[in-house]
Amino acid sequence: MSDIKTSFITKCIHVGNDIDKETGAIRRPLTMANSYRLPEDASTLNWSDPNNLVYTRNTSANQTYLQERLSALEEAEDCVVLASGVAALSAVFFTFLDKDSHVICSNVSYIAVYRLLNEYLPEKYGIEATLVDSSNIEEIKNAIRPNTKLIHIETPGNPTTRISDIEEISKIAKKAGALLSVDSTFASPFLQHPLGLGADLVVHSLTKYINGHGDAMGGAVLGSKKLVDKIKREAMVNVGGAISPFNAWLIMRGVVTLPLRMKQHSESALKIAQFLEAYPSVKFVAYPGLKSHPQHEIAKKQMSMFSGVISFGLNANVETHNKFVNSLELIISAVSIGHDESLIVYTGPNDERNHFYPEEFKHGHLRFSVGLEDPNDIINDLKQAFKKCGL
Ligand SMILES: *Cc1c(COP(=O)(O)O)cnc(C)c1O
Repeated sequence: MSDIKTSFITKCIHVGNDIDKETGAIRRPLTMANSYRLPEDASTLNWSDPNNLVYTRNTSANQTYLQERLSALEEAEDCVVLASGVAALSAVFFTFLDKDSHVICSNVSYIAVYRLLNEYLPEKYGIEATLVDSSNIEEIKNAIRPNTKLIHIETPGNPTTRISDIEEISKIAKKAGALLSVDSTFASPFLQHPLGLGADLVVHSLTKYINGHGDAMGGAVLGSKKLVDKIKREAMVNVGGAISPFNAWLIMRGVVTLPLRMKQHSESALKIAQFLEAYPSVKFVAYPGLKSHPQHEIAKKQMSMFSGVISFGLNANVETHNKFVNSLELIISAVSIGHDESLIVYTGPNDERNHFYPEEFKHGHLRFSVGLEDPNDIINDLKQAFKKCGL
């Protein structure tokens, strides 16, 4: 990589790549190896140093290339890449929470985060957790305790698309001496920049938009060298959620087109959200790019576009919602978001987080990850499925 100052889209292509010294190939190779040759004198070697290439659970060549690229995209000092988004999130909690500490978290958050903070960490390790509606600044302020070590928010939130004000919450965290970590998976580094808004850590499920092709899992935490190094030493080396070099390589390839994909996902999702909002049988649409979204103004302030996930509900019962999902021909009924293909999930009214959902979500909702197909084809698919269901 040369020293010329480059923009985000150029960095997606060039940072972390180099000419292969052995062959002259213009791409760094995939190195599927568990071990690396030790130095001649290994007597002073720190065997667990996460920055030495010794053993692939501690770090691997392809992992370091990806860390370099993601650091450039989030303008972070350092990055740690792990096996999944949940491995990255639990690494943050494992590293920065202990038995005497208190954590504040968005009440509707990724299901594993909800379970870790609502149940496992409090019950097994005595960590105190308060779950709040983090789109409401007063709820965060009121939840602060002397031992609050971490505020963890997810924005946009999964599956509500609820937006939390990163800049305002970072001020509260700083005043309380707590760290702020932001799960920015729904936005990707192209649409939102939590570290620039005052967050200490940003977390991504690489499985989603960053890889973008639905064929590899990964997770990342980014922030200062000091904080990320602590995660590497404590959680990566000793908890063991190492990413496969092959997955790191696939994600490195996927991220090349991140800006193009995020523009298309966002443009298509806005068009489809507007179509759904105008459709008579649609009960509600939650999409941060719509004026009707309760935090639309905050979304406009901290995101450059609004990404590809729409949640909505129909004026219909559980059976008809199921029939609708199964009548779709292009859009696939499957979990995950941020793939090239459109994905939809119907969650019925007995989700374990139901009591925390906004009112309109409580009777069941559809989470729709708008893919990269022609948006008119997607709208036609929705139309034909509505028709089949008499909606
Ligand atoms: C999918 C997702 C995760 C978990 O990531 P995995 O790679 O599936 O472990 C975390 N946060 C958000 C917002 C997600 O959508």
